[in-house]
Amino acid sequence: MNQYAAMSTKPTAQIICDLRSDTVTRPDAAMRKAMAEAEVGDDVFGDDPTVNRLESTLAERLGKDAGLFLSSGTQSNFVGLLAHCARGEEIVTGRAYHIHKYEAKGASVLGGIAFEPLDVADDGALEAKAIAAAVKDDDPHMPVTRLLGLENTHNGMAIPLTRLGDAVQAGRDAGLAVHLDGARYFNAVAALNCPERALADMFDSISICLSKGLGTPVGSVLVGPRDLIARARRWRKMLGGGMRQAGVLAAAGLYALDQNISRLCDDHTRATALADVLREYGDVQHATNMIFFTPPGGVTADLPQHMAAHGVQLTGATGTTRLVLHKDVTDDGLHAAIDGFRSFFGG
Ligand SMILES: *Cc1c(COP(=O)(O)O)cnc(C)c1O
Repeated sequence: MNQYAAMSTKPTAQIICDLRSDTVTRPDAAMRKAMAEAEVGDDVFGDDPTVNRLESTLAERLGKDAGLFLSSGTQSNFVGLLAHCARGEEIVTGRAYHIHKYEAKGASVLGGIAFEPLDVADDGALEAKAIAAAVKDDDPHMPVTRLLGLENTHNGMAIPLTRLGDAVQAGRDAGLAVHLDGARYFNAVAALNCPERALADMFDSISICLSKGLGTPVGSVLVGPRDLIARARRWRKMLGGGMRQAGVLAAAGLYALDQNISRLCDDHTRATALADVLREYGDVQHATNMIFFTPPGGVTADLPQHMAAHGVQLTGATGTTRLVLHKDVTDDGLHAAIDGFRSFFGG
């Protein structure tokens, strides 16, 4: 079953708890008000004040020169890789990381950039030794290794700063630039309980999603050095990603940076509560806002059907199911999910 089919079980009752992803969050009334009142201009001309403010706010917060507002995390990673690497150059990254596994290998297909995928350790990190061994000598038989791409959180796991630091250092020692796919950057910061900038300081560029746990309808931001962001801006335009009065969308991002970061720990707390219940019924991998649950014999189609009747939406995935907590799952939603699982497994 493809990813999209797996995402769409037909609800049979009113859905009060959608656990398919944190991308399902909807803009609330206050966010919509901020969007409606946004001052706008033509962002391709550089004169949308709200987009400019979003880009500079996030860049400053993370100690970088500049930012770029993009339509999605995939586009943000993609233009980031294109800005780092020329045709015939190579990125070392995790086999299971999003940029390698879930972005249709756009960097290779459209960008002429080669992937060198490495195995991801159990904690979500890449091993420094493996990174060092993957870097190519200057040899016409080989691509030029240019970039190390890391991810945090990975499958919800917040990779500790020391582990990331070792990987980054291996990349730096080999002369590589380092990019972070920080789709859930602020979930990582919340879980690591570190200063916001501590994670960003290790990386040249970072891609951050606004449309997951932060709850905006659309958008990601790439932050990094001025020259890199200028190249990324050109790639974004070439890819058709230059938006005009995008301040309506950027206003949601500014609102989210203000209002929706400190509450991410609530999602982590609710995920812990749900994970504790599910452990009675099967194998549970839980970190930050994500749970991977495998009952004995695996999830079958009757579980999402049963849950849907309790107002709880799961993906249609079988075997292992991924459950994601987010701002639109309230305590009522959480209890509906717990009741649903208990009645399914407990009889
Ligand atoms: C969601 C996600 C992205 C980007 O996804 P889009 O759907 O294109 O916004 C990138 N990396 C990771 C790790 C993600 O979870």
